[in-house]
Formats: sequence, structure tokens, C-alpha cells
Amino acid sequence: MNLRERREKKLKEIVEFAYKNSPAFKERMDGAGLTPGNIKTIEDLEKIPVIRKDNLVEIQAKNPPFGGLLGVSIPSLKRIFQSPGPIYDPQGEEEDYWNWKEPLLAAGFTSGDIVINTFSYHLSPAGIMFDEGLRAIGATVVPTGVGNTELQVRIINDLRATGFIGTPSFLMTLLKKSQELGTEFTIKKAFVTAEPFTPSQRRTFEENGITAYQGYGTADVGAIAYECEYREGMHVIENVILEIVDPETGKSLPPGEIGEVVVTLFNKTYPLIRFGTGDLSKLLSGKCGCGRETERIAGFLGRIGDAVKVRGMFVHPGQIQGILKRYDIFADFVAEVTREGDRDFLHLKVETSDIRQAEGMRDEILEKLRDVLRVRVDRLEFVSLNSLKSKNKIIDKREWK
Ligand SMILES: [Zn+2]
Repeated sequence: MNLRERREKKLKEIVEFAYKNSPAFKERMDGAGLTPGNIKTIEDLEKIPVIRKDNLVEIQAKNPPFGGLLGVSIPSLKRIFQSPGPIYDPQGEEEDYWNWKEPLLAAGFTSGDIVINTFSYHLSPAGIMFDEGLRAIGATVVPTGVGNTELQVRIINDLRATGFIGTPSFLMTLLKKSQELGTEFTIKKAFVTAEPFTPSQRRTFEENGITAYQGYGTADVGAIAYECEYREGMHVIENVILEIVDPETGKSLPPGEIGEVVVTLFNKTYPLIRFGTGDLSKLLSGKCGCGRETERIAGFLGRIGDAVKVRGMFVHPGQIQGILKRYDIFADFVAEVTREGDRDFLHLKVETSDIRQAEGMRDEILEKLRDVLRVRVDRLEFVSLNSLKSKNKIIDKREWK
């Protein structure tokens, strides 16, 4: 069976199972006039209304603790976590419940590794998530949790730890502390997540003999996507169906278009089907050189609330920033969206230390913006430094009459 066949087989099973065992899922299906027989292919998923992470707090509070979303009874849960919201996250009995084994293997973790796991082990599931993934590989875990920098540096040195799990900033903090204390930093592999991983951080790690890979996941879902050795976007894990969805219509979008990351899990404990994470990303087209069958996404491109749709395309401040920060003459920016007749008008104001030089680069910047935003900037204006005072990077001034 190829990837699609494997996923569609699991999809039919989970839809059938959830319809019988999760009252909230049955209600959603019934409300849309659907039965499990209507969902046979990945494309059929579009028929099911998206359930949004932003609504989980309310859904769970109405019918605690899991709002009818659970597919099993409470005694078969291993643990219950609480993430900000508050949202309750269940952990079922399955080995590697959050699917981090696949990303960690891709990052080179093996049995024999001694890994310090610096994510929190209480309330939020992050610590246990990676612990389970590492154990499924056969690595030895040192549950160090958050903070205690000096102690952690000591532990790394004493145990000759080879691996790190945590945020890239905390890995940097540990590396610097170790250099300051003059101890040997034995970590050679790292898996980082939960915040952006910058090229300069990656370079520093590499200069110190540390190979770091990043992954993307959430507390409710677990692993979603991860980098392979090609590091061109992130591969979606096998055990998830990922769609990039237009938040307004609920329809799947083709590669290249930005939309909400909507996932479907094959998890009987917590069968989240068409679960809208509220995160923005896009699918990449083409096959990856590593040979994996799974599709790739561009990684985390922001939260839905920050993006504004211009002429049908989501424009996120992070995209504009990504281009401007390649040049050292640009600083802050503000984009304004107005309505001219029946057409959206996008006006971008960019602070620069050198207006004359910026003018010379106008065409180049406009072209780059168009490539990334997939929508044309109608007016690009260069202004002097510190002249933009807006707190919001994108201001939507349209009035819909
Ligand atoms: Zn790859």
C-alpha cells in the first residue's frame, strides 16, 4: 500500500470508530448530514466541518472534561494534562502516543543516546511527549525539565549526554553556560521546537558540533511535521492527514497557498478529525530529495488571528518581515488594506535608514513580496526610521458594505 492507501484505510477506520464512540463527533457528522459511509477518501474530509482549537475551551467546559471528544472512557487514560486555555489534553495507552518517534529518528536519535529532555513534565504534555518518543526509539532519557542552567550543564558533562530536546534558545543558553564554566559540552544532536529556530542559532550550533533539527506539533495533537536532512520545509508525519484550509470556507487549498493547518488523527483515544490548529502554513510542491513519500509544509507561518486576507490570499506580517529582514537598511513596517471600488488595495510602508538606496531596490523588493505573498503590493512607500508608530503590523481598514 502506498501512503495514500495506508492513510485512507486508517481514515475509514477512525471515522467509523469515532462515530460510534465520540458523541461530539457523531453530533458534528449528523449536523452536516453525514454518515461514516460518506468519508472514504482524503478529499471526502472536506465535507466534515472543521472543529477549531479556539473553541475547545468552550466545548470542554460545557461537557467536562473532554466535551464528548474522547473515544474511550477515562479509566483507559494514562495521564491528563492541562495546557493554556485551559484545555485538557488526554494521553491514551498507545506506545509513543504523540508520534514523536518518526521525527526523532529523522533527527538521528538512536538507542544508546543519553538525552536531556528540557521540556516541562507537569501540566503541559511537552516533557512526557518527547520522553515517550525517545523511549520508543530506545534512547535513555534524563528528565531535566525547565531551568536550572548550571545544574543541567553539570548533568550533561557528568553523564556525557549526547542529545538535547527543548527550545533552541535554551540549547543556546546551556551551550554558553558550559563555555563560561569551561566544561565539555558533549551534546551532538538536538531536536528543537516550540519557537522559531533562526539560521544564526543553527550556525552557532553547527560550529559547536551540534546537529539540530526542528519539528512542529501542538499539545492536543502531538507531532505534526519535522525536518529531514534536506531541511526544505517539514515533512508531515505518516500518522496524520494534514490539510491547508481556507478558514472562511473550510475548503482545502493547493500547494503554495497559505491557510490554516487542519489535521486528522487516527487516534482512538482522542479522535480529533478535521481539527483546526489556528496555525498558518502552506504545502510545498514537489518531492523531497530524501525520498520520503510524505508531503511537506513550510513550517509555522503565524496564527490565524494575525493574518488578513487580501484579494483572497492570506497576508501574514511574518511573510513581509521575512523579506525585509534580509536587508539591513529596513526596519519596521505597516501594511494597510483598504477597499477601492470592488478591489482590495494593499499599501505597505517600510521604515528605512536610506530612502535613496531603498528607492533603487524598489522593483526587486516588490517582486520578492509578490513571490511570497502571492498578491501584489499596490503601493510601496519608504519612510524614515521611527516614523511608524502602529502596534499592528497589518491594519485592515476595509469597510464591507
Ligand atoms: Zn525530505
